[in-house]
Amino acid sequence: MKAAVLENKKFVIKDIEKPSLENRRGAIVKVIGCGLCGSDLVKIRDGQAQNGDVLGHEVVGEIIEINADSNFSIGSKIALGHHVPCFSCTYCWNENYSMCRHFKSTNIRPGGFAEYIYVSEEHLQNTVFNVNLNITDMEASFMEPLSCCIRAIKRANIKDGSKCLVIGLGSVGMLMGGALRAYGHKTYGCDLKADRTILAKEYGFEKTYITENSEQVIMQMKKEIRDGFDVVFLTAGAAATLDFAVKVARDGAKIVVFSSVKDASGFANNEIYYRELTVMGSYSPSPMDLEDAMYLLEQKKVNVLGLSTVYSLDKINEAVEDTVSNKIMKAFIKL
Ligand SMILES: [Zn+2]
Ligand SMILES: [Zn+2]
Repeated sequence: MKAAVLENKKFVIKDIEKPSLENRRGAIVKVIGCGLCGSDLVKIRDGQAQNGDVLGHEVVGEIIEINADSNFSIGSKIALGHHVPCFSCTYCWNENYSMCRHFKSTNIRPGGFAEYIYVSEEHLQNTVFNVNLNITDMEASFMEPLSCCIRAIKRANIKDGSKCLVIGLGSVGMLMGGALRAYGHKTYGCDLKADRTILAKEYGFEKTYITENSEQVIMQMKKEIRDGFDVVFLTAGAAATLDFAVKVARDGAKIVVFSSVKDASGFANNEIYYRELTVMGSYSPSPMDLEDAMYLLEQKKVNVLGLSTVYSLDKINEAVEDTVSNKIMKAFIKL
């Protein structure tokens, strides 16, 4: 079968062995499409992904073979999450599902940038969901990234009437804004790029700011959002946004770290102490978050249309370049 295999930080389209159900339980899924995630790009950049890996976890596909106790059958159209928590360890008991060692050891191999994938019985029972007829394949591929945002929002435990700021208006920032609004929160956004702030405004953000001159924007925000933002989400992956977040947060606010920052500096100790700030991370979703994401997509509570650009598997390197250079917001690789 055809797959995009990683070689020296580039994808190479190769013919690799098609997965089978021989001696194992689970399902073989014919991939319809798979979103290219920012975390795939980070894994390539930082060398966590190695030569020979087939990435891709925002998969939508169709079950073509199955040998498992599950709610699915041949022909089921599904979307999936790639990690399964054990639900019985210390991490799981404390709802840190993504810290569960079992969660981290489970995955989809090969990933979704291939014609077929193997999905284990455990995945089928926990992190796989039917795709309703009322949503498109591309929309369904947003289940996993949207669920990450939902988890961050749940962790922040946001009070009604809170003012939330999303820093970074790429596809993740847009999704975060969409999810925040779906839950009824007032959502503001900022980005260095003017076109993204305009797009976000059209997408339904209350107000957006261009952060080119950050000191000026901080002054403007302080005037308009009197005490500061109640919750700040960091989706940009840029070191400069840490300090910015602290400056525009209200005393006592929560700052949710939602992206990897290369060579990150820290948050200022005394700001956290004297201003009672809560800095928290949110990483990867639980099965319950995946379910909630699928619900929001089916109910059309979060609009993801227009966020992705479609590329064929052969054009996956082009998709990576266009994403990195901000030419597009996000890529959906169609098999
Ligand atoms: Zn992802
Ligand atoms: Zn666990």
